[in-house]
Amino acid sequence: MKKDLKPATFAAHAGGAYDEASGGVVMPIQPSTTYRRDEAYAPLNPDNVYLRPHNEPVRAAEAIIAELEGAAESLLFPAGMAAIAAAFRWLPTGARAVVQSGIYWGTTKWLRGFAERRGIEMIEVDASDSAALAEAIGSKVDLVFVETPSNPWLKTTDIAKAADLTHAAGGVLVVDSTAASPILTRPIEFGADIVMHSATKVMNGHSDVLGGVLSTAKGSEVWQAIKDDRADTGAVMGPFEAWLLVRGLRTLPLRIERMCQSAQTIAEYLVDHPQISDVFYPGLSSHKGHEIAKAQMSGGYGYVLSALVKGTEADALKVAGRLNLFLRATSIGGVESLVEHRHTIEPHTGIPETLLRLSIGIEDAGDLIDDLAQALGQ
Ligand code: PLP
Repeated sequence: MKKDLKPATFAAHAGGAYDEASGGVVMPIQPSTTYRRDEAYAPLNPDNVYLRPHNEPVRAAEAIIAELEGAAESLLFPAGMAAIAAAFRWLPTGARAVVQSGIYWGTTKWLRGFAERRGIEMIEVDASDSAALAEAIGSKVDLVFVETPSNPWLKTTDIAKAADLTHAAGGVLVVDSTAASPILTRPIEFGADIVMHSATKVMNGHSDVLGGVLSTAKGSEVWQAIKDDRADTGAVMGPFEAWLLVRGLRTLPLRIERMCQSAQTIAEYLVDHPQISDVFYPGLSSHKGHEIAKAQMSGGYGYVLSALVKGTEADALKVAGRLNLFLRATSIGGVESLVEHRHTIEPHTGIPETLLRLSIGIEDAGDLIDDLAQALGQ
């Protein structure tokens, strides 16, 4: 398929992943774990020998993501965390890694244990503060990991600045761009070396696939090591999940457009609400990272926002308990809106007891605001 099409067109056609054999407009699922060879023992299809290194629907999904991301290549993993682990596992003992603080708790938790076991020096820093990031990176670093916008604080990190600092110190910049999606931000254009997404979130968008993806700006020794590790350890997404992911990707630009519009409307509604003391959303001009967000996000500011309910933990839980349309469940990025009381999930990490994180779906924004209004007691 022609590559100079707009993302909405390219995605709607799944990058041209039709079925040539049947003429179907949808690609088939090929679940075979192994592939035949001819009489001379040559594979019938040289791309296919065994399922563990990769498979056909995975290759189709990777090609779509690489194109949307502006990447040289993408690799799918069976979970976002599997992708993050792969982005770090190549680091040798004694390496130095700088990791943004206050990001998705699962990442921090795994990384702390991994760094300790592997003998890696891991420095946690608020990467949205460029001066603090520069100090943490210093003159020598192996890997810098930032998450922008961050979950659940929605802090924004200047990717171009982080890339300059990382490269000057000889390191690799990895950006978790899950809360932006490749439709809003293409971190490689700002200098990132590797982009990571939990495909479980908005990429698939239907809360029915677990997955993760890494995309690279260019081929490199580090990328080859990540690729070999995935093939050798079998950390690849299965064909059924990849097929579902391709289906989800076809509507990603459309879903993102609607979700961002609604998230902006809801953030503006909540900012003025008497029962809300603070709202964190990069689309608000009052947001600390708004200018950076404006420079590196186009088409909207994402589908995640957090708000502080006035009062106590019980008050925040009462609001969450009264919501009808916002389902009380963890995760972000589905077509259905979700509400999460993060403090219940991670009570020891400094998340305020009154913080509610909202993932905005594709419902009617007015219905979502009515639901919030009744839950907040109006
Ligand atoms: N990165 C971010 C920003 C996330 O929110 C999550 C999960 O919530 C992950 C990574 C991990 O992804 P997964 O749940 O697909 O392993």
